[in-house]
Amino acid sequence: MATDLQKKAKDLGIRYFLISYTDLFGTMRAKLVPAAAIAQMQKDGAGFAGFATWLDMTPADSDMFALPDPDSLIQLPWKPEVGWLASDLMMDGAAVEQSPRFVLKKVLQAAEAAGYRLKHGVECEYFLISPDGSGLSDPADIQGKPCYDQAALMRRFDVVSEICDHMQTLGWGPYQNDHEDGNGQFEMNWDYDDSLLTADRHAFFKYMVRSVAERHGFRATFMPKPFAHLTGNGCHAHVSLWNKAGRKNLFDDPKGELGISDLGYAFLGGLMAHAPALTALAAPAVNSYKRLNAPVTASGATWSPNTVSYGGNNRTHMVRIPDAGRFEIRLADGAANPYLLPAAYLAAGLDGIARKLSPGKRLDINMYTEGHKARGARTLPLNLLDALRELERSKPLRAALGEAFVGSYLKLKQAEWTDYMRHLTQWERDNSLDC
Ligand code: ADP
Ligand code: MG
Ligand code: MG
Ligand code: MG
Ligand code: MG
Repeated sequence: MATDLQKKAKDLGIRYFLISYTDLFGTMRAKLVPAAAIAQMQKDGAGFAGFATWLDMTPADSDMFALPDPDSLIQLPWKPEVGWLASDLMMDGAAVEQSPRFVLKKVLQAAEAAGYRLKHGVECEYFLISPDGSGLSDPADIQGKPCYDQAALMRRFDVVSEICDHMQTLGWGPYQNDHEDGNGQFEMNWDYDDSLLTADRHAFFKYMVRSVAERHGFRATFMPKPFAHLTGNGCHAHVSLWNKAGRKNLFDDPKGELGISDLGYAFLGGLMAHAPALTALAAPAVNSYKRLNAPVTASGATWSPNTVSYGGNNRTHMVRIPDAGRFEIRLADGAANPYLLPAAYLAAGLDGIARKLSPGKRLDINMYTEGHKARGARTLPLNLLDALRELERSKPLRAALGEAFVGSYLKLKQAEWTDYMRHLTQWERDNSLDC
């Protein structure tokens, strides 16, 4: 029997629920529902006008209903009277096929039918900036090599420790926090888990970080490249495929190259084959392409990939093999949708397994300085439009993620690109005024 949310509210002292969903552009939407009304909402869902959010609907469409998933309940540690619920979107009695959580569930089901279960962890980098967004929250954070800077980390102890305490309260298994490679940039790590759970946590993490930062008078941003000269916000994902029971990591093979099984290398083959199309989902903003293929930053390296390549414990490639039994995919940035990201990686990996694709040769070189030695390594898309065109052409990804979803996503993102292209920049004036 599903958890009875009305009873849960009584037991936990929850007065209000946020019935929440993440739209195609990653924005979290919600209705705030008093506990007295939750039983009805649990049965029928909370009503929304879908067109008012990024879901590719029209104002003439019927009401959309968000059905809360009771297993996703998170009691806000900083406001325990509120319980957050991820929800599944329904319209006219059917699932909304372009909704991100539906897309992830669909690919997870395909994996399950083939005997697999994806687990992943994410590293969500963010900057703490001033409330108006113009600069860093900490004017003293000016080191040339700011990564792991203890003093700058400790000047933001109140924010970072509060978020980490919340993750401990929630039982996520947080294990380290640091100042990252950009001035004003931080990262906080918690344990990987089943992908739907990690995706819900990833979505909630972004909300939590923003909320705590605001309470301290700052603002948190996950924008891929908020400052041109500084390292961007990555969202590395570590992935492994398990048996259906979730007890055996099928990427683990002590006899395999770097401790990775044949199945693992076939999954990697899928990631490599589909990398340009995956980029449309992993790097989904116009701004994402200021992080990928970027010039060297003030710290000395961008830490982001430029090419479709993989290596061992080497941070200059798209995929790193840091350890036996898992891959670190370094492609995505802070704009990546928490649900679409694992869905896309899994879809690509499953195709690699189905077609026994080879990932090609591992490159044990510094890709930033020795890239010329890697003949044939493809360059990642240089802008959002190129990436969208790759996704449009990718029959396997369209089939795995769903035509309805891919069609809607491409339509909204193409419109975003067109809007961007209408914007006249200073660079154009500087370079073309005297043409
Ligand atoms: P790094 O900075 O070295 O890339 P982090 O420690 O910041 O790594 O993040 C590693 C992430 O990978 C964490 O979320 C961790 O739980 C996750 N992880 C570790 N092992 C696995 C695994 N087998 N499958 C999926 N994720 C994993
Ligand atoms: Mg109304
Ligand atoms: Mg990390
Ligand atoms: Mg990092
Ligand atoms: Mg990493």
